[in-house]
Amino acid sequence: MEESAVKKIAVFTSGGDAPGMNAALRAVVRTASHFKIECYGVREGYNGLINDDFTKMGPRSVKNIIGAGGTILRSARSLEFKTKEGRKKAYDNLVKRGIDGLVCIGGDGTFTGAKIFNEEFGVKVIGIPGTIDNDIFGTDNTIGYDTALNTAMEAIDKIRDTATSHNRVFFVEVMGRDAGFIALNSGIATGAVDILIPERKDSIDDLFETFEKAEKAGKTSSIVVVAEGEKLGSIYDLAKATKAGFPDYDIRVAILGHIQRGGSPSCADRVLASRLGYGAVIGLMAGKTNKMAGMQSNNLVYTPFEEAIKKHNEIDQNLLKLSEILAI
Ligand code: ATP
Repeated sequence: MEESAVKKIAVFTSGGDAPGMNAALRAVVRTASHFKIECYGVREGYNGLINDDFTKMGPRSVKNIIGAGGTILRSARSLEFKTKEGRKKAYDNLVKRGIDGLVCIGGDGTFTGAKIFNEEFGVKVIGIPGTIDNDIFGTDNTIGYDTALNTAMEAIDKIRDTATSHNRVFFVEVMGRDAGFIALNSGIATGAVDILIPERKDSIDDLFETFEKAEKAGKTSSIVVVAEGEKLGSIYDLAKATKAGFPDYDIRVAILGHIQRGGSPSCADRVLASRLGYGAVIGLMAGKTNKMAGMQSNNLVYTPFEEAIKKHNEIDQNLLKLSEILAI
C-alpha cells in the first residue's frame, strides 16, 4: 500500500444525532488503528474542535458501542464555528496536535461547515452521512434512516390496533422537515390510506376523495401518514379540515416525534455505518478530501460536499403510485 496521506486524524459527530453514529465512530477508530494512524475523538461536534476537547481513542475505547443509540461523543450545533474566529481557533487546535485529517459524521449543515473549513485552512476532511432523514445526495441511505423507519413502522402498527378497535381515522406525523422518505416508506409498510409528503403537491380535495373511496370500499378505520414538512398544513390543520368535511369521523392525531431518533441501530444501519467509517478513513489515507463517503448500489463512492449538500435524492414516483394502488 502507498504511504498514507494522513498520520493523525480526529473524528466527531455533529448536528442531530442518529442511531448508528456510534457504529460509525467505532469503525473509524478501529480502521485507523488497523492502519497505524493515530485517532482522536472530539466531543460535541465543532464546539469540541474550538474548545480543544479531544481524547485519544483506540480499539478498546469503542468497545460495546456498536449497538448503542445516540452518540457517545455527544453532538452539538455550534454557532461559534459559523464565525471565522471560531474556525481559526479550531484550526489552531488541530495544528497544535499535529492532526492532519478529519472525519465528520452528520448532515448537510455539518458538511457545509466542513467544506468552508477545508477551503479556508486546507484541512483534509471526509464526511459520513449520519441523519435519520435520508435527505443527502451521494448515498442510497444515510446512517440512522433504516432504524428511524422501523421505529415509525412499529409505532404506526400499534396505532393501527387502536384505530381498528374504534373505527377511527388517525393522522400520524413522522419526521422529515424537507424529505418524505420516512413517511412514504413507513406509510407503505403499514398500509396507510394516504401519505402526505413535501415533495408532492397535495390537496384537501384529493384527501377527501381518498376518504370517500375508503368508505365505499368498506374500510372502517384509516391511517394517514404525514411528513413533518408537509406543505398542505400542519397535522392539526388537516385533522380540523377533515372533521369539517366528515363530521361523523372520530379523528385522532399522533405525532411520533423524537422516539424516531433514539434506540439501538438496526442491522442495516450498523453495517452501513461500519462500511462508511472504514470508507472515510481509507479515503483520507488515499488523499481524498472535501468529500462524503456513501454507499450506492453496494459500492463505496465519494461525492464532493458541494454536490452532497446541493443535490437531493428524488422520491421514487413508483412508490407513490404503489401506495395508491395498494390502499384500495
Ligand atoms: P441534521 O440534518 O441532523 O440536522 P446537520 O449536520 O444538517 O444535521 P446542522 O445543525 O445544520 O445539522 O449543522 C451542524 C453544525 O454544522 C452547525 O451547528 C454548525 O456548527 C456547522 N455549520 C452548519 N452550517 C455552517 C456554515 N454555513 N458555516 C460553518 N459551520 C456551519
